[in-house]
Amino acid sequence: MGINRRDFLKGLGGTVAALGAAGIVEGLVSDRKAEAIHQAAPLTGTIRWGMVVDVAAFRTEEDFRRCEEACHKYHNVPRFNSLKDEIKWIWSDRFENVFPSASHQFVSEKMEEQRYFALCNHCANPPCVRVCPTQATFKDTSNGITMMDWHRCIGCRFCMAACPYGARSFNWRDPRPFIPGELNPDFPTRERGVVEKCTFCAEVIALGEAPGPGEELPEKQMPRCVKASEGRLVFGNLKDPESQIRRTLKATKTIQRKPQLGTQPSVFYIV
Ligand code: SF4
Ligand code: SF4
Repeated sequence: MGINRRDFLKGLGGTVAALGAAGIVEGLVSDRKAEAIHQAAPLTGTIRWGMVVDVAAFRTEEDFRRCEEACHKYHNVPRFNSLKDEIKWIWSDRFENVFPSASHQFVSEKMEEQRYFALCNHCANPPCVRVCPTQATFKDTSNGITMMDWHRCIGCRFCMAACPYGARSFNWRDPRPFIPGELNPDFPTRERGVVEKCTFCAEVIALGEAPGPGEELPEKQMPRCVKASEGRLVFGNLKDPESQIRRTLKATKTIQRKPQLGTQPSVFYIV
């Protein structure tokens, strides 16, 4: 590793870095600068993991809670009793917050009342990766997952300012005392001063072989939220035209969050 948390912070100062980031990145995510985002490294592998959220199938609080809990429990996500400190890997929100660039004029009552799951989109062209000075966040070009290396994260929060989806959270406090229930010994805990987010359960997917063309991931390798969703979330290889996710996308009208930015999200919504 060429640079670590301590060295970088010593040389730069975390607060100054974060303030600078807001300015740099505001330009990056504006519609006018979307072209810059298109220049990101292409995904080279035969796999690009993606997800479809069947919005209408989430009817009750319990439908959302099961998925959130499965994710947060597995990944030792802390629970703070304050919005400012909140760490979210997957969460639900209102239509206008999840799809702020869609028209909100005269939307149906159903759309207004419905909640929508949000998580990292594992964008094919992720601005968060482009701005990270230590490569703590990086794109696994073999499978499209936007990864985090928490040991490299220096807490500058450039990536948070760059992500146009609010998909990243910052540990303002030591998260460990706030992890509810028993710790999952198979997944690391984080520390104060680092950013975190959904990893598409890269570590769970890696529990076995990657599926071949026309095959699906076995249940034990499915992301935890998908497993808990009982069919409301579809996960699979966007590069395989025979996969269930591609068949779903072909057969159904779906939308993405802020597609005009050119980040190419790997999460789609049936609305
Ligand atoms: S949703 Fe945000 S954090 Fe996730 S890959 Fe896209 S830009 Fe990065
Ligand atoms: S894919 Fe995995 S890490 Fe991402 S929200 Fe679902 S359970 Fe959490």
